[in-house]
Amino acid sequence: MDNNDYLIKALALNERVRVYIVRNTDVANTARIKHDLWPSAASVLGKTMAIGLMMGAMLKGDEALTIKIDGNGPIGTVVVDANDLGEVRGYTERSHVNFTNKFGLDDVSTLGYNGYIDVIKDLHLKDLFTSTIPLQTGDLAKDFTYYFTVSEQTPSVCSLGAKVDTDNKVLVCGGLIIQLLPNAIEDDIVYIESKLDLLKNMSKLLLDYKDLEDILKLVFDKDYIVLQKQDVCFKCNCSKEHFLEGLATLPKKDIEEMIEKDGGAEVVCHYCANRYNYTKEELEGLLKRRQ
Ligand SMILES: [Zn+2]
Repeated sequence: MDNNDYLIKALALNERVRVYIVRNTDVANTARIKHDLWPSAASVLGKTMAIGLMMGAMLKGDEALTIKIDGNGPIGTVVVDANDLGEVRGYTERSHVNFTNKFGLDDVSTLGYNGYIDVIKDLHLKDLFTSTIPLQTGDLAKDFTYYFTVSEQTPSVCSLGAKVDTDNKVLVCGGLIIQLLPNAIEDDIVYIESKLDLLKNMSKLLLDYKDLEDILKLVFDKDYIVLQKQDVCFKCNCSKEHFLEGLATLPKKDIEEMIEKDGGAEVVCHYCANRYNYTKEELEGLLKRRQ
């Protein structure tokens, strides 16, 4: 699979608005394969990863964020981690979920709308920075528009799109965020509002225009400046050593039970579904370390 996924960060309307646009089709497909996601689950996770990647691009070096959404719907909790390097990983509590309506995949029935969005930022300060908002509609684009406006005091427009084929393959996934900067004027709002109909069908835009910059041209004509182009990918930083440290924190009797009953242990990473196996000897090593 060659990677066509990337993100553009730009300024537009005489530098009075900031724009993020991402195509993360391959990222969504990677997640779909790793987690065996059914179509509407792939749509919800793919779109949440698009948001995560764009919010990751808002961070400064080394910072990271986690988005946790629980709408009390059939998919359960959706979790996405992203950073400013264009790396993202994510999973859903349940993967075999698929709802459609007359418009196509039904994100709202999949996710539910009775719950919360948590955004947890690791800004390398003493504490993590968490903001929580009640889920408004279950439509991720609308809910994150609300999140940016209320939680981050940044009036924003957010559009997301995903299309999944009958064989579950993600055909396209991505999104766009336009944010008003403090120097924005009334005309900018009017201008952006005049483009909302065009922006609404994000999956069509992403299918029609292979080059994300063509979408910027379509929306802002020549009135934009690209600040950054960045490749994006699904990446999990888990490792055998990492999970061994996790096992080391378990009560002694639990480790002994794994040794006696199972003759070892297997740990599955939630984020990337990788499996790590630990031998009896490796577990015994943990017990020895404690003495
Ligand atoms: Zn992993």
